[in-house]
Amino acid sequence: MKKERVLITGAAGFLGSHLCDRFIKEGYHVIGMDNLITGDLRNIEHLFGLAEFEFYNHDVSKFVHVPGELKYILHFASPASPIDYLKIPIQTLKVGSLGTHNLLGLAMAKKARILVASTSEVYGDPTVHPQTEEYWGNVNPVGPRGVYDEAKRFQEAMTMAYHTYHGLETRIVRIFNTYGPRMRLNDGRVLPAFMGQALRGEDLTVFGDGSQTRSFCYVDDLVEGIYRLLLSNCADPVNIGNPMEITIAQFAEEIIKLTGTNQKVIYQPLPIDDPKQRQPNIDKAKFILGWEPKISRQEGLRITWEYFRSLPKERLYEEAHHRDFNAN
Ligand code: UDP
Repeated sequence: MKKERVLITGAAGFLGSHLCDRFIKEGYHVIGMDNLITGDLRNIEHLFGLAEFEFYNHDVSKFVHVPGELKYILHFASPASPIDYLKIPIQTLKVGSLGTHNLLGLAMAKKARILVASTSEVYGDPTVHPQTEEYWGNVNPVGPRGVYDEAKRFQEAMTMAYHTYHGLETRIVRIFNTYGPRMRLNDGRVLPAFMGQALRGEDLTVFGDGSQTRSFCYVDDLVEGIYRLLLSNCADPVNIGNPMEITIAQFAEEIIKLTGTNQKVIYQPLPIDDPKQRQPNIDKAKFILGWEPKISRQEGLRITWEYFRSLPKERLYEEAHHRDFNAN
């Protein structure tokens, strides 16, 4: 029987690679696309032998062509860590805006349903807590995070316009902090930073006084929420995240305990515009999708630690790479 075909952009990234696995498991033919600027082929090398997987090395900011039919498009291509935005701000803006436009056009041509990866960053440094989908956000457009936040806000507006004007089937997921195997050790985000430091025998770097909060969702829970949202009939944005909130200082203590490292916490300056608090309100996901996270932080961190621990030692010292560095 012919399998239905799904295009996943950002396929070699953290979330994209887990989505590829899930859609193959669900019986789809998966076309993965990535330009490998921040993605890593090692995340999907286990799929290359499969007849139901193919890979295109392509930048979706440029015109996207995929032969044949497509049932679904999932747009997950984007740098996703604050240090990436600083290094490749223009590419970050382009993939969220031009890339989204190209994929919406492709969805029209293929009569495919498209789900776009939005973010809790559309809420900026939120003045409403926890964040519901109704909150419009508090974003600094010209700050270092603006290139990501505003691209994603534009993405939502563009996606909604295609929905209302063209009647395109669209879904928007607002993703809160997510973690798990295949995060890049050197991507600068807090979990790989702390675990990498524990593995290298370095002190854990807490930014600011560590009182800022985040709420961390394990990747399998997130993928389940995304899968359900795609199959639902909800075109409005939906928060997917784990509401268990924790300060970054407490988080560092948890990682020290889990890893058994003898290192201590050291304090470094807080990056500009670093949100003070973040916690999803997931009532909408619960109500519409019957979804809520199942994996506790304790369990998720244990699995993630096993993953990082099992990596070859040389990967602990790899430089952050931005291949094909060409910021225009
Ligand atoms: N953070 C930290 N130490 C690090 C990396 C990050 O204290 O080595 C802090 C960062 O300032 C932020 C939080 O951890 O308050 C989460 O940062 P991350 O980059 O993971 O994601 P964000 O939610 O800020 O996009």
